[in-house]
Order: sequence, then structure tokens, then C-alpha cells
Amino acid sequence: MFDPKDKELGMDREISRRDFLNGVALAIGAAAVPASLFLGCERPHGPQQSPNYYPPALTGLRGSHPGSFETAHSLRDGTFWSHAPKPEDTGEHYDLVIVGGGISGLSAAHFFRKIAGPNARVLILENHDDFGGHAKRNEFRAGNRTLLGYGGTYSIESPEPYSAVANGLIGELGIDVSSFPRYLDRASYGAEGRVPKIFFDKETFGVDRLLDDPWPFPGGETYDLAVAAPDAWTHFMADAPIAEQARKDVHRLCTEKKDYLPHLNLEQKTARLLRISYAKFLSEVAGMHRDVLRLYQTLPEPLFGYGIDAVPAYEAWEAGYPGFSGMLGDPEALHWERVHFFHFPDGNASIARLLVRKLIPDAIPGNSAADVVTAKADYAKLDQSGSPVRIRLNSTVVRVKHNGDPASAQEVEITYSSEGKSYDVRAAHCILACWHVVIPYICEDLPGKQKQALDEATKVPLVYTNVLLQNGTAFEKLRANAIYAPGGYHTWVNLDLPVSIGGYRCPHDPAEPTVIHMSKAPCKAGLPPREQHRIGRGELYTTTFETFERNIRDQLARILGAGGFDPARDIAAITVNRWPHGYAYDYNSLFDSFVLEGGEAPCEIARKPFGRIAIANSDAEAHAFTNAAIDQAWRAVGEITKKSA
Ligand SMILES: Cc1cc2nc3c(=O)[nH]c(=O)nc-3n(C[C@H](O)[C@H](O)[C@H](O)COP(=O)(O)OP(=O)(O)OC[C@H]3O[C@@H](n4cnc5c(N)ncnc54)[C@H](O)[C@@H]3O)c2cc1C
Repeated sequence: MFDPKDKELGMDREISRRDFLNGVALAIGAAAVPASLFLGCERPHGPQQSPNYYPPALTGLRGSHPGSFETAHSLRDGTFWSHAPKPEDTGEHYDLVIVGGGISGLSAAHFFRKIAGPNARVLILENHDDFGGHAKRNEFRAGNRTLLGYGGTYSIESPEPYSAVANGLIGELGIDVSSFPRYLDRASYGAEGRVPKIFFDKETFGVDRLLDDPWPFPGGETYDLAVAAPDAWTHFMADAPIAEQARKDVHRLCTEKKDYLPHLNLEQKTARLLRISYAKFLSEVAGMHRDVLRLYQTLPEPLFGYGIDAVPAYEAWEAGYPGFSGMLGDPEALHWERVHFFHFPDGNASIARLLVRKLIPDAIPGNSAADVVTAKADYAKLDQSGSPVRIRLNSTVVRVKHNGDPASAQEVEITYSSEGKSYDVRAAHCILACWHVVIPYICEDLPGKQKQALDEATKVPLVYTNVLLQNGTAFEKLRANAIYAPGGYHTWVNLDLPVSIGGYRCPHDPAEPTVIHMSKAPCKAGLPPREQHRIGRGELYTTTFETFERNIRDQLARILGAGGFDPARDIAAITVNRWPHGYAYDYNSLFDSFVLEGGEAPCEIARKPFGRIAIANSDAEAHAFTNAAIDQAWRAVGEITKKSA
């Protein structure tokens, strides 16, 4: 039955929203590949050789798109091998095979070649249709112009300084982090009085209401541009649909410099705040009304993947949340994020693309960190037989095994599945730069204790949605740039930072088409984080694009409606980047006892080398940041090159 509300929302509108890569268009693409490419002693080339193959321009369900995860899930469920055809031997032999084409895998290839020489033969196998892993580029066509969005990794930022290795790589790629302010058009972000807002929804707060946010969250996607309107407190105190006491409490929490634990010294305060959640801090230590907890419950979700019920109060302070300025002072982490920050319009996909350019120069034209932003990648060049480095997409590794005893074997055999077939390649070494939870299923010979540790690296599910709007006038009329929606389907709805770099010009005039960013972390408050993530992951795998789309249209209509926004008219394209396996799991002092009591962290056990196999990925540091992905690649390369020295 067609719901008339769907028509109002524009569910029947022809927009760019379907992911065809693993459906019709893929079949056409594959059919268009000359037959000769499917012959010969090497593995038949996949769809990436097709001239039409260009995943960044796909819209619809992206991130872990349909077709990328089913093989790995059948391995997990124990059904893969009973249906798999016998692997074909490609006859290919490499110095190094890397499993996973994210920033860690790409960095590992780069570091390995620096040590082993530019002629070293490297193959990167990646299960998605694009390289970069979480660092995902989304492109939109708006008239004769291309607009960019980040489908995952947003920026160079970190709560602590990058290591010399990570900094060195960023420099080698030509990125001058300190130059970021040059590309940022600060004035346009707040032009026409645009300020951060809060959207109170009627399901959570009894009424739909958009208000100026009197205390915008410092950092994250709004960098340091989130500046409250001068009269924001006045409006908040008068109109916020929460109890009057709660409004007063929020005001004192955000503006008073109060020490809520005056009887404790700094060390004791730290110890206490590491052992209680931010929710408990607000209710029991700072004495906040329960509506304050409702207001802030989802504030940390994009950063932590769960709400204030599971965030340790100490980490809330480190992240810059209100309530601590009279107790602990300003957190150093915020300082680092500000001075060491760089946002490309496609996020850190530009880092992935710069790495690919270093590895396979023909694949991405140009020679600077600025020109990479508009450079068009030639996917057919990624996997060429004459090239020392090859990147093979749509290829899920299903088995990694030494040929013989791991202690003395001379090579590793890697089996991967692509397009319903399986293939074997061999290598002197293998680096697993993939998600750790996958490794026990593909590398069965690992010691049991190590497999258990790998299995604990459960990832944080996230959704990064990009919506192409015909124009940005609703944001202009509402004077909004970043909207926190505590009860919304997505918890944030943001304009991107106005960054123009190289040949790329971000929208300036509200009349121009604009890409907005929405983020969501599916979770279940009240449970331990891993359990919250498990439930959220299940939700993401079972939510259809249609459901996402309906929720997006409904949410935007309600938030932006007063600014004249009509979802049926104004939405031109939607890309939902679904990441059931998103951030690496960062240990939590409330739930991971070794954090306070000491002892070996699971990631230290998980990343141990095994014969000719080394293990990278940001999971190896249990830290969801680009610098961790790079540092762990460096360590893994060190392990295998030391072994062969
Ligand atoms: C939505 C989102 C936003 C983020 N924002 C930031 C940010 O702003 N700044 C920051 O520093 N960090 C951010 N991160 C963290 C980000 O994960 C890291 O910065 C970094 O990109 C991780 O790189 P990686 O190579 O370790 O992992 P990934 O990017 O996950 O790459 C691993 C790759 O291995 C592949 N793989 C898995 N199994 C197999 C298999 N069996 N065969 C073949 N391939 C396989 C995966 O599909 C994946 O593509 C964000 C993460 C997410 C999800």
C-alpha cells in the first residue's frame, strides 16, 4: 500500500540513489570487458577493468555496499567452503600480498617498497569495489559540476600528536597540515548569521523545535567554527522544550567554572572520573535534572559509537564536554585537534588517493596534494600485469596459509573469492591490514589465544549519509550550519566545512547545490559497548535503503521545513555510507578491566606476527584514527622485513 506521506516526502521522485554496481550496471560493465581480458594464465580481470567503472560516483547504499560482505559472512557462518568452487591457481607470485586496501594496507605497501625497493612486487586485495577502506570518496554530479562528500574518515585529527612515522608519511604525500587555514573559508561558514542549532523532536521532547545551540560542541566536524549566536542562551532558556530546572542546570553546567569534586585532589578526581560514566557524572556528581541527560544522551555517539551511559566521565572531559572546566582545566586533546587538523572535501580519501598515486602513478594523474582533490582515478590501471604494485578490488580473501610449517615455510598461499570464483596467489610475505574480527576465519592456523584477541576487536557501527540538495537556501533562511538532533534518526545534520583546494570550489552561494552530511551511530543505551555495537551492526545490515531514505526525507523535512525546504523538490541525490564495521574499538575504562588494572591489551596479543604473516590495521592499536592505521602498517612492515633480512 502506498503511503500518501511518502508522496509528500518525495519517495516516488527520480533521484540518484540506487547502487547499481553489484546489480545491473555491474553485469553490463563486466560484459563490456573485452574477452581477451578474461583469458591468459593470470586471474581473469574483474569489473574494475571496465571503462565505465567509477565507484566514487555511485550513490545509494555505499560504505559496506551490497556485494562486499556476503563472502566474509558465509566464512563466519561456516558455509563458504561447502559451496566454493575449487580455487584456480593464478600462477601469480609476489614479494608481499596485503589483505585490505584501507589506509593501513596502502601505507604498508608504501613502506615495504621503501625498504625492499621500487621493483618489489606487491598485490593488495580488497573486498570493496573501491580502495581506501573507511576513507571513502563520494562524488555527486550537480549540473556540470562535481561536488564532493566524505563517506567515512573525515580529517587528519587526533587527540595526540602524530608519531614521526605518521607525520613523515603525511609530509611525503605533500600534505602540509599547517596550511589548512589557507583553504578554509571561515567567513562563509557563519555568513548570514548561520550558527549551530539543536533540533528537539516531538517523539523525544513532545514538540518539533529548532533552537540556537547555546553551547556548541567544540571540535569534530565543525572544527573551531561552531560559534553560538549571541542571544542563544536567552532563546534556549525561554523555549527549550525540557523542564525549567533542566534549562537552568544546562546553563550552570556550561557556564559555571565549578569544582564538583572539591574534596578530591587531581589524581583522585581522575581516578573517580575514569570509573563513572558521563551520565552518572551529570546526575550524581553535578546534580543535573534528568532532562539534561536526555538532551546529551546522544551527543557522543558520532565520536564513541555510544551515548553518555557508556562514555567514561574522564573521556567526556578529554572530548571537551561541559562540566569540567572548574575541575580539570582545558584538555590537551582539544588543543592537538585544533593545531593538527586537515580536512579535504572528500575527507582522508585524499590520503588514500595520494598513496595510490605513489604506488601506481598512472592511476591518478597529478603531482600535488591539492590537485589530487579533482584528479580522476583510472581504475583500469590499478591491476596491470606489468606494474610492480597491483590493487585488486571486489576480492575477499578467504584463506591465508603457510606452505608448510610457519616457522620455516618460504611462502604464504592466499586464496581470495571474487565474482563467485576462488583464486590462489602466493607471496613471500603477507600483511593482514584488514579488520581483525575477520582474521580468525581466514587464518585458521593462528594460535587460539591470538584468535580470541582478534575476535575482541569488534568494530563500531556508523552511518555517514551525504545528501545532495538543489540549494542551501533552507540553511540560510534558518541561519543554521550544524544541527544536533538528540532524538533524531541521524544525530547530526551538518553543512561541510567550506574548503576550496586545488581546482575544487566548495559551494558559497546558498543558491548553489550543496552536499550536507548526516551521521548516525546505531546503538542500544544501557548495555556494555560491545553489546551495543553488536545490536547496532545487526540493525545496519537489515535496514534497507528505502528505510534510510524515508527517514532522511522525514528528518530533513521536519528540521528544515520552516526554512522552506521541500524534500520532494530539494533532494537531488542520497548516498548512505553504511559502516557496520566502522571505528576500531577503543578500550573503555568502565568495561575493559585491564585499562585500570594493567595487563596485556587484546590488541597487543592480536597483532603478534605469525611466521611470514604480519598484522596491521587501526585495530592493531585499538585506536580509530588514521595515524594508528599508518603506525601499525609501519610496525607490520618492520616485522616482515626484519624476518627476511
Ligand atoms: C565513518 C568513519 C569516520 C572516521 N573518521 C575518522 C577521522 O576523521 N579521522 C581519523 O583519523 N580516523 C577516522 N576514522 C577511523 C578510520 O577507520 C581510520 O582513520 C583509518 O581510515 C582506518 O584504516 P585501516 O586501513 O586501518 O582500516 P579500513 O579503512 O577499515 O581498511 C581495512 C580494509 O580491509 C578490508 N577487508 C576486510 N576483510 C577483508 C578480506 N577478507 N579481504 C579483503 N579485504 C578485506 C576492509 O573492507 C577495509 O576496506 C573513521 C572511521 C569511520 C568508519
